[in-house]
Amino acid sequence: MITLRSPRETQEQALRWKKEGAVALVPTMGALHEGHMQLVRRAKTLAPRVIVSVFVNPLQFGPNEDFHKYPRPFEADQKLCEQNGVDLLFAPSVEDLYPPGFNTQVTVGKLAQYLCGAYRPGHFDGVATVCLKLFQIAQPTISIFGEKDFQQVTILQRVTRDLNLPMAIHPEPTVRETDGVALSSRNRYLSTEERRWATRIPRALQIAKDWAGKEGARVGDVLDAATAELNASPLQIQYLTIASEDDLAPAGRDTRLSAIARPHLFVAAFAGTTRLIDNAALPGGTR
Ligand code: AMP
Repeated sequence: MITLRSPRETQEQALRWKKEGAVALVPTMGALHEGHMQLVRRAKTLAPRVIVSVFVNPLQFGPNEDFHKYPRPFEADQKLCEQNGVDLLFAPSVEDLYPPGFNTQVTVGKLAQYLCGAYRPGHFDGVATVCLKLFQIAQPTISIFGEKDFQQVTILQRVTRDLNLPMAIHPEPTVRETDGVALSSRNRYLSTEERRWATRIPRALQIAKDWAGKEGARVGDVLDAATAELNASPLQIQYLTIASEDDLAPAGRDTRLSAIARPHLFVAAFAGTTRLIDNAALPGGTR
């Protein structure tokens, strides 16, 4: 495995590989876990060359968010990538990607206003900007993202279409612990107690799925059932929303599930100071 910091050298290598065949890119912020490795394994089935990027992107963090304390166990990340057959690990510094005078940003439209976007202003512009840069540098024919960040992958699919990028976005299902909690680099912030509270989240998703499958179910009923499960712990709900996968616009409480195209439940909640997100497709929709 090659490890490179330089965007230019990475781009040169990627362009050489692209002449021989497909290149898959897995963008990450490091602190790699099995969820990331699932993306790598998928990437290896989709292309003969796999590039992983590790970059904690300051553009996508708000002023009061965890940019500085975000875990950066680089040697462990490097080892995991090597063991999982990654061809190139691209690990630039902030200055490598944003040198003095950097002055251009991608602005995402409506899809970025809902859900996490409502609470993290500028977050998805930062994600779209860094991903567009990573796509230019790593020249992927396909890039793999986790559905754990469902709004992110939805937005990147739209960016790819809107800006005519000559590549595909592959969404990969969320990898979970045996108790259902989604793997996340931020889980390492959780105390034993907070980790226990987190199990309410996948349970709330399951309760919502059960309710949504009932004849005539309305959004309000499904949300109330899921809220009750979350509120049985000290978790603080930031949002709990049902939206169509097509436009991510929140559905009103009186709306019947059967009137929503591809209904999907989204949740963000704090366990202490750690923000956890999760989501699940719901039954009962029009498609
Ligand atoms: P991050 O390092 O958190 O920015 O995540 C990098 C990529 O890994 C994103 O596409 C995430 O959606 C994906 N990812 C993170 N956690 C999981 C998980 N538990 N299952 C599947 N993909 C994940």
